[in-house]
Amino acid sequence: MSKYPLLTVNHEALRSNMTQVVSWCRDAGIDVAGVIKVSNGMASFSLDYETCGAKWIASSRLEQLIRAREAGVKAPLMMIRVPMLSEIPEMIEVCDYSLESEFAAIKAIEEASAHTGKAHNIILMADLGDLREGFFELEELVDVAKYVEDKCDFVHLAGIGTNLGCYGSVMPTKEKMEQLVSYAEAIESGIGRQLEIISGGATSSLMPLFDGVMPERINMLRIGAVSACGPLEDLRTAYGRTEVDCMRDDGFILEAEVIELRTKPTHPIGKLGVDAFGQKPKYKDRGMRQRALLAVGRADFGDIANIFPEMPGAEVVGASGDHTIVDIEDCKEIIRVGDIMRFKLCYSSIMQLTASENVKVKEVE
Ligand SMILES: *Cc1c(COP(=O)(O)O)cnc(C)c1O
Repeated sequence: MSKYPLLTVNHEALRSNMTQVVSWCRDAGIDVAGVIKVSNGMASFSLDYETCGAKWIASSRLEQLIRAREAGVKAPLMMIRVPMLSEIPEMIEVCDYSLESEFAAIKAIEEASAHTGKAHNIILMADLGDLREGFFELEELVDVAKYVEDKCDFVHLAGIGTNLGCYGSVMPTKEKMEQLVSYAEAIESGIGRQLEIISGGATSSLMPLFDGVMPERINMLRIGAVSACGPLEDLRTAYGRTEVDCMRDDGFILEAEVIELRTKPTHPIGKLGVDAFGQKPKYKDRGMRQRALLAVGRADFGDIANIFPEMPGAEVVGASGDHTIVDIEDCKEIIRVGDIMRFKLCYSSIMQLTASENVKVKEVE
């Protein structure tokens, strides 16, 4: 069997990024939950994160957390997608922490934990306007917190958290972070003690940290993306944050083989309908150009906007499920059939490539 398409995982680069993240956070009094879902819960990614000082290993998928534990992760595991009722019995065995936003789930955790006798820590999620998970009304949040504090013997209220920039594109501003702290204080006056954890969000919440406006009481961030992508993460590509320029973008590299080389027109010929995915793309006529056809496709990486050729002058112009067309007219290097082209990756392509059964993986220490 061919070893391509190949995803190369460069652990030195990943650990360099993770160490940087942990160090930024530590300087601000923040512990990192290392989120592994970007790598589809790759065991070695979890171990890297633990080695670099993540205090928790976290994922939105229970299967990935089980894999982390089986791979030897010792850190407490945290489930960061609010759980399905149907997975709670397994979740409380595997995880020490979870994010919660439903009263029914909390009651189910209490009931299941009463059977096993093992306590479970929860972080109540507050929806501050991004409109995915979380309590929307402060009053309900405080009521549920009081219920957990007073009525639950096995569910421990560890803290509160929020998530931003996922559905609603809402940014983690100083105001949102302060609002989260004020919600925590409302709970604290309701239950008469301090919360251990105030979890201020994901990679995007590094922005208030970079700006020095993160409230002191925020003491956890849940970070995945930037450790995997470095400067190819939204922090840089969408928000222009140059702080991440010191990070590495070669933690994950896709390599694919050239299977055809030919000079062809750039505009299709004939009556145009839809492409392989039922879309009607626009084609720009740039005349005849040399292109390489590669044995990799959208079945592997998703969208062509999410792969970045390393070779100067190369441009990805299109892809179907199993083919990718790269314009190489402007490349100085000579390319032959059988050659390998390399691509840098971003969040969504890493997530898809690590999940794809068609893609081989090479791990480099
Ligand atoms: C995915 C996720 C994170 C991590 O987000 P990144 O952008 O990968 O850092 C944190 N918290 C929750 C609830 C998530 O779903």
